[in-house]
Amino acid sequence: MTRTILITGGSRGIGRSAAILAGQRGWSVGVNYIGNKQAADEVVKAVADAGGKAIAIKGDVADEADVVAMFERTVAELGPLDGVVVNAGIVAPPQRLMDMSAERMRRIFDVNVLGAYLCARESVRRLARSSGGKGGSIVLLSSAAARLGAPGEYVDYAGAKGAVDTLAIGLSKEVGPEGIRVNAVRPGLIETDIHASGGQPDRARRLGVTAPLGRAGTADEVGESIVWLLGDASSYVTGAIIDVTGGR
Ligand code: NAP
Repeated sequence: MTRTILITGGSRGIGRSAAILAGQRGWSVGVNYIGNKQAADEVVKAVADAGGKAIAIKGDVADEADVVAMFERTVAELGPLDGVVVNAGIVAPPQRLMDMSAERMRRIFDVNVLGAYLCARESVRRLARSSGGKGGSIVLLSSAAARLGAPGEYVDYAGAKGAVDTLAIGLSKEVGPEGIRVNAVRPGLIETDIHASGGQPDRARRLGVTAPLGRAGTADEVGESIVWLLGDASSYVTGAIIDVTGGR
């Protein structure tokens, strides 16, 4: 049976890997992106090449109307939802809190917290059995920063991911009776573009060697855990926060 999922920030990095892995399992995937249409189109093609169906959907997760629209398009074009990966997230260049502008912090919280909560809300509205949904699985992308704190780099981002952990705990209890599982994945240092976007392109490789496994992780290594949480193999797992950090 075909499953339909939506992945926010599915055009690059971890979201891209999760989209392609899900496509390889024959799932239909809504691939949200904010600006990089070419990258999103490449993911759509990769999913199609792997046997799945996908559409690219532009939208900002921090914008309520965009979020509602991306869910509506996914359902209209791919069918009722089975799962959602709340993945889109951003960092900013390293700064101490004492130097951070309110503008910077607002954007970090808007995308990483408000965006995650809006996407989780829209997921529940469509998955809940009491609303005619099938139940399903929500996977939230947190970060090891939620427990390490990211001092001197981005304590704003770390706090935002702490909110995502707490959402996984609370929402899983709230919507378990609706047939919805909610879990978080907490990646460590993963080689994606996010580090360059924060002005530190070599960050994962440079710091990855300090992890007990001695290296940075790959997007596919996180994508595998996401796809496991989406599927029936994890049917009794909810409210879990899974570290994919090489032991960091
Ligand atoms: P990435 O490589 O920078 O990719 C970010 C993705 O999110 C892109 O698809 C981007 O779209 C999209 N995006 C950014 N802002 C958006 C917005 N406001 N609305 C919609 N889409 C937006 O990031 P990543 O490393 O894969 O990270 C994915 C998630 O894992 C994030 O939540 C991040 O915080 C978390 N994480 C990553 C690491 C790591 O080391 N990489 C570690 C811990 C946690 P465009 O392509 O259109 O720009």
